[in-house]
Amino acid sequence: MAVNLLDFDLDGLAAYCEGLGEKRFRAVQLFRWIHQKGVCDFGQMSDLAKSLRDKLVGVAQVRPLPVLTEQASSDGTIKWLFDVGDGNAVEAVFIPEDDRGTLCVSSQAGCAVGCRFCSTGHQGFSRNLGTGEILAQLWFAEHHLRQRLGLPAGERAITNVVMMGMGEPLQNYHALVPALRTMLDDHGYGLSRRRVTVSTSGVVPMMDRLREDCPVALAVSLHAPNDALRDELVPLNRKYPLAELLEACGRYLESAPRDFITFEYCMLDGVNDTEAHARELVALVRDRVRCKFNLIPFNPFPASGLKRSGRERVQAFARVLTDAGLVTTVRKTRGDDIDAACGQLAGEVRDRTNVQRRLTRQPIRIQVRPASGGAP
Ligand code: SAH
Ligand code: SF4
Repeated sequence: MAVNLLDFDLDGLAAYCEGLGEKRFRAVQLFRWIHQKGVCDFGQMSDLAKSLRDKLVGVAQVRPLPVLTEQASSDGTIKWLFDVGDGNAVEAVFIPEDDRGTLCVSSQAGCAVGCRFCSTGHQGFSRNLGTGEILAQLWFAEHHLRQRLGLPAGERAITNVVMMGMGEPLQNYHALVPALRTMLDDHGYGLSRRRVTVSTSGVVPMMDRLREDCPVALAVSLHAPNDALRDELVPLNRKYPLAELLEACGRYLESAPRDFITFEYCMLDGVNDTEAHARELVALVRDRVRCKFNLIPFNPFPASGLKRSGRERVQAFARVLTDAGLVTTVRKTRGDDIDAACGQLAGEVRDRTNVQRRLTRQPIRIQVRPASGGAP
């Protein structure tokens, strides 16, 4: 199959072009056509040497992901479901706000971490996405939205990327890093390090590698103030317990683009949401890590057996944290009506693990809800 040029960061593309006997500046031109202008067809890349265009035809491609469905929420959130083959699908969600446009991007089909409260985790792990499949989500969303929103030339639709879609990005490190570099590259999407966030359930060794290789903003999914509870909610905690995780956060901050870590905390009724939990959390992090808290209302799904904490519970919890001097926000849920909120992604795609197909050797059909349609 032809090489997918979306699989390369700029250095990778330069090495590929060098293999074709072309200089780096040609790779820069090509990279800009692909990522800044959203052009797939080499014939349209007007200032690219004809000799290079001829060499690329037949051996290379800019291969986007097929879009299975698009759903637009009444609040402006748009969710796309992309086909990644073999009955697997991943999602990206665009969240417009007054001063920014955020794209939530997936890193894996499924997830192996298996958090109790996450529907992606419940459905198991299918496979890692390649760099090109991670970038294809951004490539499509950026160029589609520019057209759809009628943005003037040079204006970006997406100003922020959060790796908070399906999957654990730090368990797909080798594909992730070139994708992040392309997001940051001035010849690519030109996003600042502060506006690209990797969210992790706490893969400690890879947090250390990320700070060396590509320090972007970091969010850590905490969800519990002690190891006993976190072991239950985030099984990865048994491998990398809280003390190790917090030390890794401290190390990350030494080279981070932000001077704080964002701790995400999903509020689960009667499980992790009492004021006693909040006080334990304060004792855990205070004087140890510069951090902010983002309290996420749990988005329920039937198989979890869990419930969202009531509003007053969340407020009381937040008050304990803020009284202790910890900056705390409560996340607004967006795209609720199209299941685009955290942990609901691709909840409508059945059997992502392909278990049934392996057992029965029958091809599986992707079942998706019809798009609700309508532009925001
Ligand atoms: N695997 C990474 C990133 C993807 S999940 C991580 O765990 O950080 C992105 C965020 O959504 C995480 O903070 C995760 O804990 C949260 N999340 C998962 N399921 C959720 C649910 N059902 N309701 C609310 N938040 C959820
Ligand atoms: Fe995986 Fe993150 Fe979901 Fe946990 S919360 S199962 S790490 S995607």
